Amino acid sequence: MSDRSSFQQARGDTPLLAERFAALHPPFSRQAVLPEANRCLFCFDAPCTTACPTHIDVPRFIKKIATGNLAGSARTILDANILGGSCARACPVEVLCEGACVMHRYNKQPIQIARLQRFAIDALYDSGAPLPFEPGPDRGQTVALIGAGPASLACAAELRRKGICATIYDERALPGGLNTYGVAEYKLPLKESLREIEMLAELGVEFRFGTAVDATALADLEHTHDAVFLGLGLGAVHRLGIAGEKLAGVTDALDFIAGYKSGQVLSAPARVAVIGAGNTAIDAAIAAVRLGAKTVHLLYRRGPEQMSAFSFEYEHAKQEGVRFLWHVQTIGIQGTGHVKALTLVELVPSADGSLVPQSGSQFMLDCDLVLLAIGQSTHTDRLGLATDGAPKVQLERGRVLIDHATGQTSHPKFFAGGDCTNGGREVVDAVADGKRAGIGIAAWLEAQHPHG
Ligand code: SF4
Repeated sequence: MSDRSSFQQARGDTPLLAERFAALHPPFSRQAVLPEANRCLFCFDAPCTTACPTHIDVPRFIKKIATGNLAGSARTILDANILGGSCARACPVEVLCEGACVMHRYNKQPIQIARLQRFAIDALYDSGAPLPFEPGPDRGQTVALIGAGPASLACAAELRRKGICATIYDERALPGGLNTYGVAEYKLPLKESLREIEMLAELGVEFRFGTAVDATALADLEHTHDAVFLGLGLGAVHRLGIAGEKLAGVTDALDFIAGYKSGQVLSAPARVAVIGAGNTAIDAAIAAVRLGAKTVHLLYRRGPEQMSAFSFEYEHAKQEGVRFLWHVQTIGIQGTGHVKALTLVELVPSADGSLVPQSGSQFMLDCDLVLLAIGQSTHTDRLGLATDGAPKVQLERGRVLIDHATGQTSHPKFFAGGDCTNGGREVVDAVADGKRAGIGIAAWLEAQHPHG
Protein backbone atom coordinates (compact mmCIF):
# COMPACT_ATOMS: atom_id res chain seq x y z
CA MET A 1 0.00 0.00 0.00
CA SER A 2 1.31 3.42 -0.84
CA ASP A 3 1.92 5.90 1.98
CA ARG A 4 1.29 8.77 -0.41
CA SER A 5 -1.47 10.31 1.68
CA SER A 6 0.87 10.60 4.67
CA PHE A 7 3.27 12.86 2.85
CA GLN A 8 0.51 14.78 1.17
CA GLN A 9 -0.61 15.81 4.65
CA ALA A 10 2.93 16.69 5.65
CA ARG A 11 3.14 19.28 2.87
CA GLY A 12 2.66 22.76 4.08
CA ASP A 13 3.76 26.24 3.44
CA THR A 14 4.52 28.07 6.65
CA PRO A 15 4.18 31.85 6.36
CA LEU A 16 7.82 32.15 7.43
CA LEU A 17 9.08 29.99 4.60
CA ALA A 18 6.96 31.78 2.03
CA GLU A 19 8.06 35.20 3.26
CA ARG A 20 11.78 34.57 3.88
CA PHE A 21 12.54 32.05 1.17
CA ALA A 22 10.76 33.38 -1.89
CA ALA A 23 11.88 31.70 -5.13
CA LEU A 24 15.28 32.81 -6.37
CA HIS A 25 14.02 32.69 -9.95
CA PRO A 26 10.30 33.46 -10.19
CA PRO A 27 8.23 31.40 -12.62
CA PHE A 28 7.53 32.65 -16.13
CA SER A 29 4.17 34.25 -16.80
CA ARG A 30 2.22 33.01 -19.83
CA GLN A 31 3.07 36.29 -21.60
CA ALA A 32 6.81 35.94 -20.98
CA VAL A 33 7.20 32.27 -21.78
CA LEU A 34 6.49 32.40 -25.53
CA PRO A 35 9.06 35.07 -26.47
CA GLU A 36 11.70 33.17 -24.50
CA ALA A 37 10.79 29.83 -26.10
CA ASN A 38 10.92 31.46 -29.53
CA ARG A 39 14.42 32.80 -28.89
CA CYS A 40 15.71 29.20 -28.95
CA LEU A 41 17.50 28.29 -32.19
CA PHE A 42 16.38 24.64 -31.86
CA CYS A 43 19.92 23.50 -32.56
CA PHE A 44 20.30 20.15 -34.34
CA ASP A 45 23.22 18.84 -32.27
CA ALA A 46 22.04 20.73 -29.23
CA PRO A 47 24.91 21.23 -26.76
CA CYS A 48 22.39 21.90 -23.99
CA THR A 49 21.09 18.34 -24.34
CA THR A 50 24.61 16.91 -24.29
CA ALA A 51 25.42 18.94 -21.17
CA CYS A 52 22.40 17.56 -19.28
CA PRO A 53 23.35 14.38 -17.39
CA THR A 54 19.86 12.99 -18.14
CA HIS A 55 20.02 14.20 -21.77
CA ILE A 56 16.65 15.92 -21.85
CA ASP A 57 15.85 16.82 -25.47
CA VAL A 58 15.92 20.55 -24.74
CA PRO A 59 15.11 21.97 -28.22
CA ARG A 60 12.23 19.49 -28.54
CA PHE A 61 10.58 20.44 -25.25
CA ILE A 62 11.10 24.15 -25.92
CA LYS A 63 9.62 23.78 -29.41
CA LYS A 64 6.54 22.18 -27.89
CA ILE A 65 6.14 25.12 -25.50
CA ALA A 66 6.48 27.49 -28.46
CA THR A 67 3.67 25.66 -30.28
CA GLY A 68 1.38 25.58 -27.24
CA ASN A 69 1.79 21.85 -26.59
CA LEU A 70 2.56 22.05 -22.87
CA ALA A 71 1.50 18.47 -22.09
CA GLY A 72 3.79 17.19 -24.86
CA SER A 73 6.60 19.36 -23.56
CA ALA A 74 6.25 17.94 -20.04
CA ARG A 75 6.24 14.42 -21.48
CA THR A 76 9.49 15.05 -23.36
CA ILE A 77 11.13 16.30 -20.16
CA LEU A 78 9.80 13.54 -17.89
CA ASP A 79 10.60 10.79 -20.36
CA ALA A 80 14.29 11.65 -19.92
CA ASN A 81 14.15 12.89 -16.33
CA ILE A 82 11.26 11.83 -14.11
CA LEU A 83 12.32 14.47 -11.57
CA GLY A 84 12.34 17.21 -14.22
CA GLY A 85 10.37 19.49 -11.88
CA SER A 86 12.91 19.49 -9.07
CA CYS A 87 15.85 19.55 -11.47
CA ALA A 88 14.39 22.67 -13.12
CA ARG A 89 14.70 24.35 -9.73
CA ALA A 90 17.78 22.74 -8.17
CA CYS A 91 20.15 22.16 -11.10
CA PRO A 92 23.23 24.40 -11.39
CA VAL A 93 22.19 25.19 -14.97
CA GLU A 94 24.89 27.84 -15.22
CA VAL A 95 27.42 25.02 -15.51
CA LEU A 96 25.15 22.53 -17.32
CA CYS A 97 22.55 23.17 -20.05
CA GLU A 98 22.45 26.97 -19.92
CA GLY A 99 26.22 27.11 -19.63
CA ALA A 100 26.44 25.15 -22.90
CA CYS A 101 23.82 27.18 -24.81
CA VAL A 102 25.12 28.46 -28.17
CA MET A 103 23.80 31.93 -27.34
CA HIS A 104 27.01 32.50 -25.37
CA ARG A 105 28.91 32.38 -28.68
CA TYR A 106 26.87 35.33 -29.94
CA ASN A 107 27.32 37.29 -26.71
CA LYS A 108 23.66 36.87 -25.93
CA GLN A 109 21.92 35.68 -22.80
CA PRO A 110 21.55 31.90 -22.82
CA ILE A 111 18.05 30.54 -23.21
CA GLN A 112 16.44 30.26 -19.76
CA ILE A 113 16.07 26.51 -20.06
CA ALA A 114 15.38 25.86 -16.37
CA ARG A 115 12.54 28.36 -16.16
CA LEU A 116 11.02 27.02 -19.39
CA GLN A 117 11.29 23.47 -18.06
CA ARG A 118 9.66 24.51 -14.82
CA PHE A 119 6.84 26.21 -16.72
CA ALA A 120 6.00 23.03 -18.65
CA ILE A 121 6.19 20.74 -15.59
CA ASP A 122 4.22 23.09 -13.35
CA ALA A 123 1.51 23.31 -16.02
CA LEU A 124 1.20 19.52 -15.95
CA TYR A 125 1.11 19.34 -12.16
CA ASP A 126 -1.33 22.25 -11.86
CA SER A 127 -3.66 20.64 -14.42
CA GLY A 128 -4.22 17.69 -12.09
CA ALA A 129 -3.36 15.26 -14.90
CA PRO A 130 -1.37 12.15 -13.94
CA LEU A 131 2.15 11.45 -15.16
CA PRO A 132 2.00 10.74 -18.89
CA PHE A 133 3.22 7.15 -18.39
CA GLU A 134 1.56 3.88 -17.46
CA PRO A 135 3.10 1.09 -15.41
CA GLY A 136 4.26 -1.76 -17.66
CA PRO A 137 2.53 -5.18 -17.67
CA ASP A 138 3.28 -6.91 -14.36
CA ARG A 139 6.40 -9.11 -14.63
CA GLY A 140 6.00 -10.61 -11.15
CA GLN A 141 9.37 -9.31 -10.02
CA THR A 142 10.17 -7.07 -7.07
CA VAL A 143 13.03 -4.71 -6.29
CA ALA A 144 13.84 -3.15 -2.89
CA LEU A 145 15.34 0.33 -3.05
CA ILE A 146 17.23 1.61 -0.03
CA GLY A 147 16.91 5.35 0.50
CA ALA A 148 14.18 7.60 -0.93
CA GLY A 149 16.41 10.18 -2.56
CA PRO A 150 16.53 11.15 -6.25
CA ALA A 151 18.52 8.08 -7.36
CA SER A 152 16.03 5.62 -5.89
CA LEU A 153 13.04 7.64 -7.10
CA ALA A 154 14.33 7.68 -10.67
CA CYS A 155 15.22 4.00 -10.53
CA ALA A 156 11.79 3.09 -9.11
CA ALA A 157 9.98 5.04 -11.84
CA GLU A 158 11.97 3.24 -14.53
CA LEU A 159 11.21 -0.14 -12.94
CA ARG A 160 7.47 0.61 -12.76
CA ARG A 161 7.39 1.60 -16.42
CA LYS A 162 8.85 -1.83 -17.11
CA GLY A 163 6.26 -3.67 -14.98
CA ILE A 164 8.56 -4.41 -12.01
CA CYS A 165 7.35 -3.78 -8.44
CA ALA A 166 9.46 -1.17 -6.65
CA THR A 167 9.41 -0.61 -2.88
CA ILE A 168 11.46 2.21 -1.43
CA TYR A 169 12.66 2.05 2.20
CA ASP A 170 13.78 5.17 4.06
CA GLU A 171 14.40 5.93 7.71
CA ARG A 172 13.02 9.44 7.50
CA ALA A 173 9.36 10.41 7.65
CA LEU A 174 9.22 11.91 4.16
CA PRO A 175 10.60 10.84 0.78
CA GLY A 176 12.94 12.82 -1.45
CA GLY A 177 16.26 12.75 0.42
CA LEU A 178 18.17 15.95 -0.25
CA ASN A 179 15.43 17.20 -2.60
CA THR A 180 13.06 17.38 0.35
CA TYR A 181 15.44 18.05 3.24
CA GLY A 182 18.67 19.49 1.83
CA VAL A 183 18.17 21.87 -1.12
CA ALA A 184 17.75 25.52 -0.14
CA GLU A 185 14.06 26.41 0.09
CA TYR A 186 14.42 29.40 -2.28
CA LYS A 187 15.58 26.93 -4.93
CA LEU A 188 13.39 23.89 -4.30
CA PRO A 189 10.58 24.23 -1.76
CA LEU A 190 9.86 21.12 0.30
CA LYS A 191 6.25 21.08 -0.87
CA GLU A 192 7.36 21.02 -4.52
CA SER A 193 9.60 18.04 -3.87
CA LEU A 194 6.70 16.19 -2.26
CA ARG A 195 4.26 17.13 -4.99
CA GLU A 196 6.58 15.61 -7.56
CA ILE A 197 6.94 12.38 -5.58
CA GLU A 198 3.18 12.08 -5.18
CA MET A 199 3.05 11.84 -8.96
CA LEU A 200 5.47 8.91 -8.81
CA ALA A 201 3.23 7.15 -6.33
CA GLU A 202 0.59 7.18 -9.09
CA LEU A 203 2.90 4.86 -11.05
CA GLY A 204 2.63 2.37 -8.20
CA VAL A 205 5.94 3.05 -6.45
CA GLU A 206 5.55 1.83 -2.85
CA PHE A 207 7.09 3.59 0.15
CA ARG A 208 8.04 2.36 3.60
CA PHE A 209 8.98 5.35 5.74
CA GLY A 210 10.61 5.25 9.17
CA THR A 211 12.43 2.07 8.19
CA ALA A 212 16.15 2.04 8.89
CA VAL A 213 17.79 -0.70 6.84
CA ASP A 214 20.80 -2.14 8.66
CA ALA A 215 22.92 -5.09 7.53
CA THR A 216 20.42 -7.64 8.92
CA ALA A 217 17.40 -6.00 7.30
CA LEU A 218 19.34 -5.68 4.06
CA ALA A 219 20.09 -9.41 4.07
CA ASP A 220 16.34 -10.06 4.52
CA LEU A 221 15.46 -7.76 1.62
CA GLU A 222 18.05 -9.52 -0.52
CA HIS A 223 16.23 -12.81 0.02
CA THR A 224 12.70 -11.49 -0.42
CA HIS A 225 13.33 -9.41 -3.58
CA ASP A 226 14.70 -10.18 -7.02
CA ALA A 227 17.19 -7.30 -6.84
CA VAL A 228 18.23 -4.48 -4.51
CA PHE A 229 19.08 -0.90 -5.43
CA LEU A 230 21.36 1.02 -3.07
CA GLY A 231 20.50 4.71 -3.09
CA LEU A 232 21.99 5.27 0.35
CA GLY A 233 23.18 8.83 -0.14
CA LEU A 234 25.77 10.05 2.32
CA GLY A 235 25.94 9.84 6.10
CA ALA A 236 26.73 12.25 8.92
CA VAL A 237 28.68 15.45 8.38
CA HIS A 238 32.33 15.10 9.42
CA ARG A 239 33.32 16.55 12.77
CA LEU A 240 36.31 18.80 13.41
CA GLY A 241 37.74 16.59 16.15
CA ILE A 242 38.47 19.46 18.52
CA ALA A 243 37.38 20.31 22.06
CA GLY A 244 34.01 22.02 22.44
CA GLU A 245 32.38 20.29 19.50
CA LYS A 246 29.70 18.78 21.73
CA LEU A 247 28.57 22.19 23.05
CA ALA A 248 24.98 23.17 22.37
CA GLY A 249 24.85 25.41 19.31
CA VAL A 250 27.35 23.34 17.32
CA THR A 251 25.48 21.35 14.73
CA ASP A 252 25.69 20.16 11.18
CA ALA A 253 24.63 22.40 8.35
CA LEU A 254 22.38 19.80 6.73
CA ASP A 255 20.40 19.37 9.96
CA PHE A 256 20.00 23.15 10.12
CA ILE A 257 18.71 23.25 6.53
CA ALA A 258 16.36 20.30 7.12
CA GLY A 259 15.19 22.00 10.32
CA TYR A 260 14.06 25.23 8.73
CA LYS A 261 12.61 23.49 5.66
CA SER A 262 10.44 21.27 7.85
CA GLY A 263 9.37 24.15 10.09
CA GLN A 264 11.33 23.06 13.18
CA VAL A 265 13.88 25.89 13.01
CA LEU A 266 12.16 29.26 12.82
CA SER A 267 15.00 31.68 13.45
CA ALA A 268 18.77 31.97 13.67
CA PRO A 269 20.66 33.64 16.54
CA ALA A 270 22.54 36.91 16.06
CA ARG A 271 26.01 35.52 15.26
CA VAL A 272 26.48 32.47 13.09
CA ALA A 273 29.66 30.82 11.83
CA VAL A 274 29.62 28.26 9.03
CA ILE A 275 32.70 26.06 8.65
CA GLY A 276 33.30 24.78 5.11
CA ALA A 277 33.07 26.25 1.62
CA GLY A 278 30.94 23.91 -0.47
CA ASN A 279 27.44 24.50 -1.77
CA THR A 280 25.89 23.20 1.48
CA ALA A 281 27.92 25.72 3.46
CA ILE A 282 26.67 28.50 1.19
CA ASP A 283 23.04 27.32 1.46
CA ALA A 284 23.29 27.18 5.26
CA ALA A 285 24.93 30.62 5.47
CA ILE A 286 22.26 32.25 3.31
CA ALA A 287 19.53 30.51 5.31
CA ALA A 288 21.01 31.89 8.53
CA VAL A 289 20.89 35.41 7.06
CA ARG A 290 17.29 34.95 5.97
CA LEU A 291 16.35 33.54 9.38
CA GLY A 292 17.47 36.72 11.09
CA ALA A 293 21.17 36.37 11.97
CA LYS A 294 22.92 39.75 12.24
CA THR A 295 26.34 38.48 11.16
CA VAL A 296 27.12 35.27 9.29
CA HIS A 297 30.74 34.31 8.70
CA LEU A 298 31.84 31.51 6.42
CA LEU A 299 35.25 30.12 7.43
CA TYR A 300 37.52 28.22 5.09
CA ARG A 301 41.08 26.91 5.33
CA ARG A 302 41.93 27.91 1.78
CA GLY A 303 41.06 30.78 -0.56
CA PRO A 304 38.08 31.55 -2.80
CA GLU A 305 39.80 29.87 -5.77
CA GLN A 306 39.81 26.52 -3.99
CA MET A 307 36.26 26.54 -2.58
CA SER A 308 34.10 23.77 -3.97
CA ALA A 309 30.96 25.94 -4.11
CA PHE A 310 30.06 27.19 -7.57
CA SER A 311 31.22 30.74 -8.24
CA PHE A 312 27.64 31.92 -8.82
CA GLU A 313 26.70 30.56 -5.38
CA TYR A 314 29.62 32.49 -3.89
CA GLU A 315 28.44 35.69 -5.58
CA HIS A 316 24.91 35.07 -4.35
CA ALA A 317 26.12 34.60 -0.77
CA LYS A 318 28.06 37.86 -0.91
CA GLN A 319 24.94 39.66 -2.13
CA GLU A 320 22.98 38.20 0.78
CA GLY A 321 25.51 39.65 3.22
CA VAL A 322 27.55 36.55 4.13
CA ARG A 323 31.11 37.48 5.17
CA PHE A 324 34.02 35.26 4.22
CA LEU A 325 37.10 34.54 6.28
CA TRP A 326 39.70 32.84 4.07
CA HIS A 327 42.80 30.93 5.13
CA VAL A 328 41.63 30.34 8.69
CA GLN A 329 41.43 27.18 10.73
CA THR A 330 39.20 26.57 13.73
CA ILE A 331 41.36 25.31 16.57
CA GLY A 332 38.99 25.70 19.50
CA ILE A 333 35.31 26.08 20.38
CA GLN A 334 34.65 28.10 23.52
CA GLY A 335 31.62 28.16 25.79
CA THR A 336 30.05 26.75 28.93
CA GLY A 337 27.17 24.53 27.97
CA HIS A 338 26.55 26.60 24.84
CA VAL A 339 28.99 27.84 22.22
CA LYS A 340 30.18 31.44 22.73
CA ALA A 341 33.15 31.81 20.38
CA LEU A 342 35.55 30.09 18.03
CA THR A 343 39.31 30.25 18.32
CA LEU A 344 40.79 30.71 14.86
CA VAL A 345 44.27 30.86 13.47
CA GLU A 346 45.43 32.18 10.11
CA LEU A 347 47.07 29.71 7.74
CA VAL A 348 49.98 30.40 5.44
CA PRO A 349 51.75 28.18 2.90
CA SER A 350 54.87 26.43 4.15
CA ALA A 351 57.97 25.64 2.06
CA ASP A 352 56.45 22.31 0.95
CA GLY A 353 53.17 23.99 -0.05
CA SER A 354 51.09 22.71 2.87
CA LEU A 355 49.16 25.19 4.99
CA VAL A 356 50.51 25.88 8.46
CA PRO A 357 49.35 28.20 11.28
CA GLN A 358 51.00 31.60 11.25
CA SER A 359 52.53 32.29 14.64
CA GLY A 360 50.82 35.04 16.59
CA SER A 361 47.78 35.10 14.30
CA GLN A 362 45.31 33.50 16.71
CA PHE A 363 42.03 35.37 17.22
CA MET A 364 38.50 34.84 18.53
CA LEU A 365 35.21 35.05 16.64
CA ASP A 366 32.12 35.43 18.82
CA CYS A 367 29.24 33.24 17.71
CA ASP A 368 26.00 31.73 19.00
CA LEU A 369 25.64 29.01 16.38
CA VAL A 370 28.27 26.99 14.53
CA LEU A 371 27.24 25.06 11.42
CA LEU A 372 29.58 22.34 10.19
CA ALA A 373 29.69 21.76 6.44
CA ILE A 374 33.00 19.97 5.95
CA GLY A 375 31.91 16.92 3.99
CA GLN A 376 29.98 13.78 4.84
CA SER A 377 30.87 10.23 5.70
CA THR A 378 29.33 7.26 3.90
CA HIS A 379 26.62 4.82 4.99
CA THR A 380 28.43 1.82 3.59
CA ASP A 381 28.94 0.31 7.07
CA ARG A 382 25.29 -0.70 6.81
CA LEU A 383 25.91 -3.07 3.93
CA GLY A 384 27.20 -5.98 5.99
CA LEU A 385 29.43 -8.81 4.90
CA ALA A 386 29.13 -11.66 2.45
CA THR A 387 29.47 -15.26 3.69
CA ASP A 388 33.24 -15.18 3.10
CA GLY A 389 33.61 -12.16 5.39
CA ALA A 390 34.35 -9.71 2.58
CA PRO A 391 32.15 -6.61 2.13
CA LYS A 392 28.86 -7.54 0.47
CA VAL A 393 29.66 -5.21 -2.42
CA GLN A 394 33.06 -3.92 -3.46
CA LEU A 395 33.95 -0.48 -2.16
CA GLU A 396 36.56 2.09 -3.06
CA ARG A 397 37.36 4.88 -0.59
CA GLY A 398 34.01 4.20 1.08
CA ARG A 399 32.04 4.46 -2.16
CA VAL A 400 30.12 1.62 -3.74
CA LEU A 401 31.84 0.53 -6.94
CA ILE A 402 29.50 0.09 -9.91
CA ASP A 403 29.55 -0.68 -13.58
CA HIS A 404 28.67 2.77 -14.91
CA ALA A 405 26.72 1.40 -17.85
CA THR A 406 24.28 -0.61 -15.72
CA GLY A 407 24.70 0.48 -12.10
CA GLN A 408 25.49 -3.13 -11.13
CA THR A 409 27.82 -3.68 -8.17
CA SER A 410 30.27 -6.54 -7.62
CA HIS A 411 27.32 -8.50 -6.18
CA PRO A 412 25.12 -9.24 -9.21
CA LYS A 413 21.86 -8.83 -7.30
CA PHE A 414 22.84 -5.38 -6.01
CA PHE A 415 22.77 -2.18 -8.03
CA ALA A 416 23.59 1.31 -6.81
CA GLY A 417 23.64 4.97 -7.80
CA GLY A 418 23.74 8.53 -6.55
CA ASP A 419 25.90 9.95 -3.77
CA CYS A 420 26.93 6.58 -2.27
CA THR A 421 28.69 5.84 -5.58
CA ASN A 422 29.99 9.27 -6.56
CA GLY A 423 30.70 10.91 -3.19
CA GLY A 424 28.10 13.64 -3.59
CA ARG A 425 27.24 15.30 -6.88
CA GLU A 426 24.14 17.04 -8.20
CA VAL A 427 20.51 15.88 -8.01
CA VAL A 428 20.47 15.48 -11.77
CA ASP A 429 23.48 13.12 -11.60
CA ALA A 430 21.62 10.96 -9.09
CA VAL A 431 18.58 10.92 -11.37
CA ALA A 432 20.74 9.84 -14.31
CA ASP A 433 22.31 7.09 -12.18
CA GLY A 434 18.94 5.87 -10.94
CA LYS A 435 17.41 5.74 -14.39
CA ARG A 436 20.43 3.88 -15.79
CA ALA A 437 20.27 1.38 -12.93
CA GLY A 438 16.53 0.86 -13.47
CA ILE A 439 17.24 -0.07 -17.08
CA GLY A 440 20.19 -2.22 -15.92
CA ILE A 441 18.12 -4.06 -13.32
CA ALA A 442 15.31 -4.77 -15.80
CA ALA A 443 17.79 -6.13 -18.35
CA TRP A 444 19.54 -8.28 -15.73
CA LEU A 445 16.22 -9.69 -14.43
CA GLU A 446 15.13 -10.41 -17.99
CA ALA A 447 18.37 -12.34 -18.56
CA GLN A 448 17.81 -14.33 -15.34
CA HIS A 449 14.13 -15.08 -15.94
CA PRO A 450 13.16 -14.48 -19.58
CA HIS A 451 9.45 -13.78 -19.84
CA GLY A 452 6.98 -13.70 -22.69
FE1 SF4 B 1 18.14 26.35 -27.76
FE2 SF4 B 1 20.48 27.13 -26.61
FE3 SF4 B 1 19.83 24.52 -26.66
FE4 SF4 B 1 20.47 25.77 -28.97
S1 SF4 B 1 21.84 25.40 -27.20
S2 SF4 B 1 18.74 24.33 -28.61
S3 SF4 B 1 19.65 27.83 -28.56
S4 SF4 B 1 18.71 26.17 -25.60
